[in-house]
Amino acid sequence: MVQSSVLGFPRMGANRELKKATESYWAGKSSVESLIETGKTLRAAHWKIQKDAGVDIIPSNDFSFYDQVLDHIQLFNAVPERYTKYNLSPLETFFAMGRGLQRKATDTTEAVDVTSLEMVKWFDSNYHYVRPTLQDNQTFKLSGTKPIDEFNEAKELGIVTRPVVLGPVSFLHLGKADRGQTVNPIDLLDSLLPVYEELLTKLAEAGAETVQIDEPVLVLDLPEKTKKAFATAYSKLGALANGPKLVLATYFGDIVHNIDVVPSINHLYGLHIDLVRAPGQLKDVLAAVGEKQILSAGVVDGRNIWKTNFSKAIGLVETAVEALGADRVIVATSSSLLHTPHTLASEKKLAADVADWFSFASEKAKEVAIIAKAVTEGSDAVAEELKANAASVKARATSERTNDAAVKDRQAAITEADYSRKSPFPERIAAQSKTLNLPKFPTTTIGSFPQTSEIRVQRNKFTKGEITAEQYEKFIEKEIDDVIAIQEEIGLDVLVHGEPERNDMVQYFGERLNGYVFTTHAWVQSYGSRCVRPPIIVGDISRPAPMTVKESKYAQSKTKKPMKGMLTGPVTCLRWSFPRDDVHQSVQAEQLALALRDEVVDLEKAGIYVIQVDEPAIREGFPLRDGKERDEYLKWAVNSFKLSTAGVEDGTQIHSHFCYSDFQDMFSLISDLDADVLSIENSKSDAKLLNVFKKEEYPRHIGPGVYDIHSPRIPSYEEIKNRIEEMLAYLKPEQLWIDPDCGLKTRQWTETKPALTNLVNAAKFFREKY
Ligand code: GLN
Ligand code: ZN
Repeated sequence: MVQSSVLGFPRMGANRELKKATESYWAGKSSVESLIETGKTLRAAHWKIQKDAGVDIIPSNDFSFYDQVLDHIQLFNAVPERYTKYNLSPLETFFAMGRGLQRKATDTTEAVDVTSLEMVKWFDSNYHYVRPTLQDNQTFKLSGTKPIDEFNEAKELGIVTRPVVLGPVSFLHLGKADRGQTVNPIDLLDSLLPVYEELLTKLAEAGAETVQIDEPVLVLDLPEKTKKAFATAYSKLGALANGPKLVLATYFGDIVHNIDVVPSINHLYGLHIDLVRAPGQLKDVLAAVGEKQILSAGVVDGRNIWKTNFSKAIGLVETAVEALGADRVIVATSSSLLHTPHTLASEKKLAADVADWFSFASEKAKEVAIIAKAVTEGSDAVAEELKANAASVKARATSERTNDAAVKDRQAAITEADYSRKSPFPERIAAQSKTLNLPKFPTTTIGSFPQTSEIRVQRNKFTKGEITAEQYEKFIEKEIDDVIAIQEEIGLDVLVHGEPERNDMVQYFGERLNGYVFTTHAWVQSYGSRCVRPPIIVGDISRPAPMTVKESKYAQSKTKKPMKGMLTGPVTCLRWSFPRDDVHQSVQAEQLALALRDEVVDLEKAGIYVIQVDEPAIREGFPLRDGKERDEYLKWAVNSFKLSTAGVEDGTQIHSHFCYSDFQDMFSLISDLDADVLSIENSKSDAKLLNVFKKEEYPRHIGPGVYDIHSPRIPSYEEIKNRIEEMLAYLKPEQLWIDPDCGLKTRQWTETKPALTNLVNAAKFFREKY
């Protein structure tokens, strides 16, 4: 019979109980015991949900108080010395690595001051993992029992789980050498493997028949050495005398380009592949799996919120069954469900037609069980479910929300000319200097000013209907008046209205566009206790009315200095939403671009001649592998930005902003955007990174952030001056703008005012000098 399985379940709880418990513990408001208890309650609840859903193979050790990779760092005792020297408890050490720890000395304990380990994006998702940070003389030791404890915990509840362990090759490949160290992590494999042998043996002793061993790096382009590591690792781990059966799990892509690795793992019990992201790999993988090996077919999307199309999923599973037989196929989620919200049942405000299109983690658990049953017992066994599913799929495909003919017509009518500004940059900048009349080294900020508690209070009142729209609008106008007065006093050149009306840089636009819906509880973990609630793109996108013109126009009416309009770019709107799965992302980006293009043109008509279109997420959308997909992404991402901005006259200045400095591999993308002015992060990184602009003779203007807005520290005049001096080694004085690294919404005014004053004074120094 075909079994069903889930690769991992979200940890936060239906009401983000884990977030609340962890933050309360961090704040010293609740005990460690109560945090541990919350973890236990949540695990039990999540196992039960899956059990009740009829899932055959339920995961354990997918839970974490912060991050599953961090769990392994601690489990293998790969904890850098800077965290161990304080005699912290294991849980304190764990959180210190995750988020840093600063604590004053007490009578009995010494002061602690240690920053966190690096946190990086988990493949191309919006989840962040803590990066294994390794030493030249790294040793490993099994120094915990978490996977075994959680297995036993479930067993006591009557559920025999399949523990999830991150595989050794991925653990090392995703890691890095600590600062000052030169070790290539993969070279540590031999010393790491005994720890896995011990762990797997212990799991088997505890009664775990199978273990899911995650090796997601198999979907990446891998160096030869890393590929070989699979053979080394799994010839050992797959042959343990008393070891468990191993299912090696890959996800977020296909493994066809690494298919030569498969023979070295096809003696393992099973292999899991992601057939949502990469259904095309099924044939090649079926041909490559071992004679007795089972295939876990990931057909229920672990990364998105759409109901599974049963007939399609069943088709894929049946293909596998034809090749291998029912006993050698498992129906599974494509990846862990970590990236999906907890349950659709919490959404009370969604329109019924749309709600019927979604499936969150708890519903997806039911889906794998239904698909397995359909394949095992035949469709009659689940006739009702299949019928309802087909009806829902059809309703979505034919809904007016999904299909807007006017949007499609407009997309079809796009021409090459729509992507390009009227003239090349030299002519534009000449026209802009007439319209804007800016000094050398112009100063500006990235858009938001401190989101004070007063702003949040008023927004809440307005959302709850406690104040009228008119009252709220007056309040926003007063905020705009205030930030304009402050900016004029400080002497900034290009002003902003401060974004006080925006709750979030994507949601704000989503709420004003057709084609989006919003949830009330659909949170997904981003890192640690931080969760995000992405809006959902359900259909063709269009802009029924201007979205930001009122505020920007009001702001411009209050000052003689140029006011910068502020929009979130098409790629960022797409990346920070749950996208549709029925049309390519490029189509959705193009629709967003057209909507934003209208907004840009309307801003210009309203007298706004500097318009910034933020694309902080354009880099994270970069496909995981080199080649065709990446080339295509570069093309459509760039095109949608250009489409959104190219509708203006030469004299209107287009800015764009990115929150990262790591643009070496992205230079051509950034350059192709053809933005008149770019603002980028640079204060935390070496000014040398700017060399690429010099080397490539980048012709347009750039504002590399001169100070880090993530810290409450106030940068001094000298410091900013020195930073600018460093930048001038790589950028021409006439192309340099002076600005902070990012928006100031998380800062206080007491920090912001002096910091910006120093920034303006530093710019003035260079105006004198050049
Ligand atoms: N304009 C936005 C702000 O200032 C940009 C935020 C971002 O890049 N993440 O808040
Ligand atoms: Zn930013």
